[in-house]
Amino acid sequence: PFDMLIVGGGPAGAAAAIYAARKGIRTGVAAERFGGQVLDTMAIENFISVKETEGPRLAAELQQHVQSYDVDLMNLQRAEKLIPGKEFIEVQFANGAALKARSVVISTGARWRQMNVPGENEYRNKGVAYCPHCDGPLFKGKRVAVIGGGNSGVEAAIDLAGIVSHVTLIEFDAQLRADAVLQRKLHSLANVKVITSAQTTEVTGDGQKVDGLIYKDRKSGETQTIELEGIFVQIGLLPNSEWLKDTVKLSARGEIEVDARGQTSVPGVFAAGDVTTVPYKQIVIAMGEGSKAALSAFDYLIRSSAP
Ligand code: FAD
Repeated sequence: PFDMLIVGGGPAGAAAAIYAARKGIRTGVAAERFGGQVLDTMAIENFISVKETEGPRLAAELQQHVQSYDVDLMNLQRAEKLIPGKEFIEVQFANGAALKARSVVISTGARWRQMNVPGENEYRNKGVAYCPHCDGPLFKGKRVAVIGGGNSGVEAAIDLAGIVSHVTLIEFDAQLRADAVLQRKLHSLANVKVITSAQTTEVTGDGQKVDGLIYKDRKSGETQTIELEGIFVQIGLLPNSEWLKDTVKLSARGEIEVDARGQTSVPGVFAAGDVTTVPYKQIVIAMGEGSKAALSAFDYLIRSSAP
């Protein structure tokens, strides 16, 4: 059995693995896809102390750093069940394998909900974006749309309005769902237009990058086109926590509830990164949280039983 088993191999899991291995304990990392969301990212300009890098490159560096320690790295392993226990916690995988550990750090991350319309995947990272904190500055002085009128969509529109030339916010429903204070702020901005009862049906482009979007006016049934350079999809971030819903306490949004030390509702089980309730889903934050969860798990180990 492992002293610490980390489930998930994104920035949070990689950081947890390095912190655990440096304590000289038996450390394992099991991940469905080592690298996580970083693999799907192109330019990264906010990974502090690295002015600019690319996702696949950072993912490779994460792996090298982890593998420079004595860590059992198990890629292409999808966890399906967590079974708490007094001495050992068991994690079962889709391929039928099971691993036991004295402590577990869950860092299975999250995924952005997609619109599932033609052009969205084709132009991902070529105008279609999901993270305003990450990609907002790439659209300086350009025209963008934000899809989604919930809190995250309206926050994104307000944020982007300070950077880009014009923002069109598109909401499927007849009204926005964001908090009133955010809506008031949004409506006070001169370079923002809000379109409600609109269903985005297609992302268009010139083959290289986005040049517009098509939506259906749900009241008239008419099709409309907007010319723009960027589209921020803000219709939800889904935590990869479905496999834990019977064992670990989750928030209403499905995020693992953690305290300031990364402790979950299950003794010996810690969590970090985008899968948790910790606000702001970013690489540096996930790494900090992963390090913290591993240190907390180590603290749990030295207090709980014989070495
Ligand atoms: P993830 O990166 O999501 O990693 C989760 C890991 O868990 C993966 O290895 C996954 O395969 C694995 N996993 C999931 N489910 C299971 C399971 N059941 N069993 C086993 N393993 C599982 N952040 C920035 O700071 N700067 C940026 O410029 C930036 N740009 C981004 C661009 C895009 C397109 C996207 C999608 C995200 C971007 N982000 C950016 C956000 C950043 O990538 C995330 O905040 C960060 O990767 C979260 O790290 P994590 O380790 O918590 O989760």
